[in-house]
Amino acid sequence: MAHPDPVLIAGGGIAGLATALALAKRSIPSRILEQRPQACAH
Ligand SMILES: Cc1cc2nc3c(=O)[nH]c(=O)nc-3n(C[C@H](O)[C@H](O)[C@H](O)COP(=O)(O)OP(=O)(O)OC[C@H]3O[C@@H](n4cnc5c(N)ncnc54)[C@H](O)[C@@H]3O)c2cc1C
Repeated sequence: MAHPDPVLIAGGGIAGLATALALAKRSIPSRILEQRPQACAH
C-alpha cells in the first residue's frame, strides 16, 4: 500500500527520531518538524 502523505512528527528528540526510524523501516515516509535550529548540546 502506498503512503503518499508523510507522517508529521513534532520534535526531533530521541522520541521523534525513533518514530521516524520505525516508520522508515516500514517504508512509511515522515517529516520531522523541529523548532531548534541545531542539535542540543547534551
Ligand atoms: C541537561 C540534561 C541532561 C540529560 N542527560 C541525560 C542522560 O545522560 N541520559 C539520559 O538517558 N537522559 C538524559 N536526559 C533526559 C533526556 O534528554 C530526555 O529523557 C529525552 O531527551 C526525552 O526525549 P524526547 O524525544 O521525549 O524529548 P526531547 O529530547 O525534549 O525532544 C523534544 C523535541 O521537540 C522539540 N519541540 C518541542 N516543541 C516543539 C514544537 N512545538 N514544534 C517543533 N518542535 C518542538 C524540541 O525542540 C525538542 O528537540 C537529560 C536531559 C537534560 C535536560
